[in-house]
Amino acid sequence: MTFLLASAALVRIGPIVRACDLRARGVTSREISRATSAGEIRRVRRGVYASLDADESWIHAAQHGAVPSCVMAGRMMGLWILQDGDDLHLWFGHAGNPRQCGRRSCDPHQHWDDGEVRLGDLPPVRNVLLQVAQCADEETFFCALESALRKSMLHVGDIRWLAERVPRPVRWLLGFARTDADSGLESLIRLRLHKLGISVCTQVQIDGVGEVDFVIGDWLIIEADGKQNHDDDRDDEGGDASQPWVSLRHKDLMRDARAAALGYETLRFNYAMIVHHWATVVAAILARIAATRVAPVGRRVSDH
Ligand SMILES: [Zn+2]
Ligand SMILES: [Zn+2]
Repeated sequence: MTFLLASAALVRIGPIVRACDLRARGVTSREISRATSAGEIRRVRRGVYASLDADESWIHAAQHGAVPSCVMAGRMMGLWILQDGDDLHLWFGHAGNPRQCGRRSCDPHQHWDDGEVRLGDLPPVRNVLLQVAQCADEETFFCALESALRKSMLHVGDIRWLAERVPRPVRWLLGFARTDADSGLESLIRLRLHKLGISVCTQVQIDGVGEVDFVIGDWLIIEADGKQNHDDDRDDEGGDASQPWVSLRHKDLMRDARAAALGYETLRFNYAMIVHHWATVVAAILARIAATRVAPVGRRVSDH
């Protein structure tokens, strides 16, 4: 398809393109100059242009000659990224040409793993996961990995590719990760309990109760509230009464009561507790396990 107007071409192929890509689609150099002067498109740097609605982080990355990467790209593509933060993470591919962006004291995280950068495109998912493995902690990598598997964003070859490249201490997570995790919170809990030597069954269907998040042994239910999304409003107990909090709370209590009638115990934690007060959470779990004097007998990882 060819275009007369640079702005129309950017809407179609943008948000950030090289001038040569615009010219390849019929936009003349004169039109590029006109559109830039008229404020219809934005000049990012020499030979690179952006649509006016291009995200600022894309613009910044392009000024460096790169694209967003790592946890930043993971968030953009919808992976579960536990870490907050607005640090700039850039991917230059294996043969990039880094540039100064002109901002004072700009010190982005730089990633140089295999692949060719295409301005306007995020890195392939496997590259993003490799970058997260190299740059973030083990838990962040694991949650991002399980979300990519859950969303079917990885192929078998990608796992092999990652196995050859991720740092050795996190390589085992490629085998431990599952394709059916429901949320980053679920991934996080399973990993943390596993590292404590506690095996759990996830998403267990209990007749008369429904699906519960985790069962330890055959009697202790762990429910992670707000697991749909780690920013979930259900964590906000002071929420608006017009929100369905009350009915959700009622539903949860009914589930717990039905489970108790079947001989289960339920421990319920919210996102903030799991992420920020893990010591409290684990103390509660271990105390319940110790009180029964029965070791948990959940399925081992190798049984999956
Ligand atoms: Zn990074
Ligand atoms: Zn910069």
